[in-house]
Amino acid sequence: MPSQKEIEGYKLELLYSKEKIEEAVQKVAQRISHDYQGKHPLFLGVLRGCFIFLSDLVRSIKDVPLEVDFVQVSRYVETTGGDVQWVKTPPPCSGKDVVVVEDIVDEGPTLSFVLRDLHSQLPASLKVCTLLNKPSRRKIPIFIDYGVFDIPDLFVVGYGLDIEGRFRELPEIYFLK
Ligand code: 5GP
Ligand code: MG
Repeated sequence: MPSQKEIEGYKLELLYSKEKIEEAVQKVAQRISHDYQGKHPLFLGVLRGCFIFLSDLVRSIKDVPLEVDFVQVSRYVETTGGDVQWVKTPPPCSGKDVVVVEDIVDEGPTLSFVLRDLHSQLPASLKVCTLLNKPSRRKIPIFIDYGVFDIPDLFVVGYGLDIEGRFRELPEIYFLK
């Protein structure tokens, strides 16, 4: 597989291969399977970027009966200065063991907004699982319970992540040159 490609004027450089992603997702799934023995967690994906990661993750979790639901938020830095708003609000989470599943944690406001709301519903527990984490970009501190990859300050696409709606379907993760 070539490590660089140019599609529709975007120059993509390979960051993680399909095999590398699969291996790393399996490891996190094993940790989650271990930690949630005897529980019945609710996996709450943050749309839309989480959809491929979440589907691979839950299929790799063993012997834990679980539920899946979604929230969606929008964050328009241009028009609202970075305010986050609900597009799809969370389901009732009171008393549940909730695992929020993100594609990427960057500056932090998106996840911080989601966690604040969920926290106010008094779940039994609330944890964060993210495919990618850019710690060097953080403006709001967030504790990541289950992180697959820490990455430097790069803009990435593929495996669910997009730029202008494109490249979500790529099985690998690329950064834009
Ligand atoms: P935060 O509120 O943490 O700054 O933003 C998180 C959201 O910004 C992510 O859920 C994602 O939608 C978007 N984002 C941040 N960095 C990247 C990136 O490198 N690639 C893509 N495709 N989206 C990103
Ligand atoms: Mg996201």
